Amino acid sequence: MRQRNKDKKRSIYIETYGCSANQSHSEVMMGLLKENGYNIFRSPEDAGVLVINTCIVKEPTEKRMIFRIKSLKEKYPDKKMIIAGCMPAGEYSLVKKIAPEASLVGPNNSLDIIEAVKNTLNNTHVEYLDDKGEKILCHPRIRFNKFINIVEISKGCLGNCAYCIVKRAKGILKSYPIKAILMDIEMSLKEGCKEVWLTSQDCGCYGRDIGVTLVDLINEISKIPGEFRVRIGMANPNYVIKMLKDLINSYKSDKIYKFLHIPVQSGSNEVLKKMRRVYTAEEFKEIVTKFKKNTPNVTVWTDVIVGFPGETEKDFKETLKLIEETKPDFVNISKFGVRPGTEAEKMKKVDTETIKRRSREISNLVDRISLEKNKDWIGRTCKILITEPGRDKNQYMGRNESYKPILIETEKNLLGKFVTVRIIDAKKTHLVGKII
Ligand code: SF4
Repeated sequence: MRQRNKDKKRSIYIETYGCSANQSHSEVMMGLLKENGYNIFRSPEDAGVLVINTCIVKEPTEKRMIFRIKSLKEKYPDKKMIIAGCMPAGEYSLVKKIAPEASLVGPNNSLDIIEAVKNTLNNTHVEYLDDKGEKILCHPRIRFNKFINIVEISKGCLGNCAYCIVKRAKGILKSYPIKAILMDIEMSLKEGCKEVWLTSQDCGCYGRDIGVTLVDLINEISKIPGEFRVRIGMANPNYVIKMLKDLINSYKSDKIYKFLHIPVQSGSNEVLKKMRRVYTAEEFKEIVTKFKKNTPNVTVWTDVIVGFPGETEKDFKETLKLIEETKPDFVNISKFGVRPGTEAEKMKKVDTETIKRRSREISNLVDRISLEKNKDWIGRTCKILITEPGRDKNQYMGRNESYKPILIETEKNLLGKFVTVRIIDAKKTHLVGKII
């Protein structure tokens, strides 16, 4: 019995929400805990400490965090809790209200997890929220997917968007030196990774605080020997336009997925100004047009906020027109939701029914375009990297050079392998391939 309690005390359960960067922080926290003799459990039942790595980017997500924290506390009143991620840094008073006894580890303090667990297990409440400029790269990790290395290339951003709460949690841009990123990638390749995700709030402004650029980083990564693929994370148009020609050139490397994730948020310059986004719809269009012209088969993802305060029907029509003209492969559509303490909180809201109607309208347009774009691939042959199992037995999901998700059927375990397939069908969300 005593031994069981001792084991329980050294058993940690980590639950992760939010962006790739948050996932990479959970991977490092699990790696460090394991290295310090703690057991990592995949379910809360038998764990002594519950770590919730939170996200508050959108209102519905925050509500989910609140509900989850409360239900875990109710179900496991005797277990210790640590709340990590953006919530303790961006919504401190809310966290103190729903879980005053929980220890806190901010999004810039993941390396303090060992001290946090030790103190919490000794019934000492601790809060690690100060930004000491921790270096999260090149630490041991327990990966969610052993073939994928998620590399946080920088934290924070240079933006000041009127709707955003992330800035308050993650702060101003801090880029990792290229050398540290290369070392992290080389370590992961030795551990068997085949795919690398470069991630940050805004990969576009990477290096502006240390005198390098995203293009410099991509060109250095492309020199690393071996066969692997790199997905470049979200980059804001105002930085991409400044390095467009060089960025397009850097994408010519076989190692770089022909995948561009560039959030536009609105097609109306009026709305972009109110959002404090510092580019125009025309500049977004120029980026997409030039990328498509010079990077064959490039996949374009973007993000749109529907119903931002003051968005008129005319503004919304401009967004629809921009999507129709640029034909992105996928659009992440968000209904505007107020984030506390942001500039947008003070602005006059668009009514909920209008937001819902606009969201439906743009979703229909996006679905039509996504399917059209995917149908273009039918009959083509491509080399894909298999990174994850599909939903059903003998199904696997791979990515081709354009980072298109391709579902295949095979009895062989091909995870981490490159195979050649012919595209035999297309769905809105993915392609279907046959190994040849
Ligand atoms: S660029 Fe804007 S939306 Fe993105 S994290 Fe920074 S402030 Fe938020």
